[in-house]
Amino acid sequence: MLGSWSIGKKDQKPEKHDDESRKIPDANGSSGARASDEDDKALESLARILRSLGRHAFELEQLSEEAIEKEFERWAMHVLVGAQISTEDAELPGHEPTTRRDWGALTRFVNGHRQQEKTYVTRNLQDVRNVLWEFTNIVGRAIVEDQETDQKVTNHLTQLRTATEGGSFQDVKHALFAVVQGIHTLIDERKQRQQQRLTKLGEKLRAVEEELGSARKQMTLDALTQLYNRGALDLQLERTASVSFFSGTSACILMVDVDHFKRINDTFGHPAGDAVLQQLANRLVSTFPRKADFIARYGGEEFCVLLQGAGYELSQRLGERLLNAVRREEFHYQDIGIPATVSVGVAELLPGETVHSWIERADRALYRAKDGGRDRLCLANETTGAAQES
Ligand code: GH3
Ligand code: MG
Ligand code: MG
Repeated sequence: MLGSWSIGKKDQKPEKHDDESRKIPDANGSSGARASDEDDKALESLARILRSLGRHAFELEQLSEEAIEKEFERWAMHVLVGAQISTEDAELPGHEPTTRRDWGALTRFVNGHRQQEKTYVTRNLQDVRNVLWEFTNIVGRAIVEDQETDQKVTNHLTQLRTATEGGSFQDVKHALFAVVQGIHTLIDERKQRQQQRLTKLGEKLRAVEEELGSARKQMTLDALTQLYNRGALDLQLERTASVSFFSGTSACILMVDVDHFKRINDTFGHPAGDAVLQQLANRLVSTFPRKADFIARYGGEEFCVLLQGAGYELSQRLGERLLNAVRREEFHYQDIGIPATVSVGVAELLPGETVHSWIERADRALYRAKDGGRDRLCLANETTGAAQES
């Protein structure tokens, strides 16, 4: 409770705070004690308002919500008990505490804060408005362009109808020719516009992708080979498929599987098999050194290389380089040479294809390479679902 705290000149002369001095009759002839109660209530209310303002303040650039709340709390205490508003003053040696309120400073503080808030909110709203405006503009332009195209198509068709109804055979022929040409051009233009938009969007996505590239390092690695593991590969495949969808960038996967690996294990032992997998992992890294190439252990003795921006031609060349490198490789374990070869299945991502289907096609191509005698590469054949051997 506030007790005998009050405002105005009386605050400077606390000794006069007796019951008599406060009995000033009001308009209704009530006593001054009542006026004092009202003063206390007014101060309490004002303090509550200040605290509420502090609690629900916006965070400002320079000040956190917590700091603002503290500031308002100090002013609330100043109003309630006349607490010093400047902590430095209060800490000065010999400084006498006073219950005098600084109403001017309080008004300036509240005004100043409110103005800061207004500036902050207005500016941020403007930023949001600008983004919305930009977005509306792009969508609007796209719609208008499409409507214009539709209108032009309608005009062409009207011309054709007019010629058909009243014109000579020559007129109809000319009109038909003009309409076919016109519509062809319009469709081409529309396609180009859409491609441009998709390319732009793809560029933005690629920028995001580059940022995400640095997050790759945090992806989980396979303990035996230190290549990316299956989880990391799944993530990367999804991302690559999304980027390709918007930008039209090509992407290929190479499924690489060690031939007769079970036999290697059975002949040389499991640790020897592990050593072969480790050496093969190193060979994969040296064969696909580009930063954009993503090499992962798919599971067991199977690996997956994801080549972004590569079509069949490049992927086949690189895949064959890998086959040759493996043929030359002297796999060994404790001075014992271990002959090993690999088979490779390659699939290029089709427009709009799911990752699941992409992998499946690469797998099918790999099994064709196995069926074909191993130590070779097969390309997935999109049109027939079969695979082409190389
Ligand atoms: P194919 O040419 O048809 O691929 O025959 P394969 O013997 O390589 O294939 P299969 O799937 O029959 O055998 C794969 C073997 O790989 C079986 C499994 O024990 C072995 N394997 C899987 N993971 C590891 C591993 O981490 N280390 C070792 N040493 N062997 C593994
Ligand atoms: Mg195998
Ligand atoms: Mg296998």
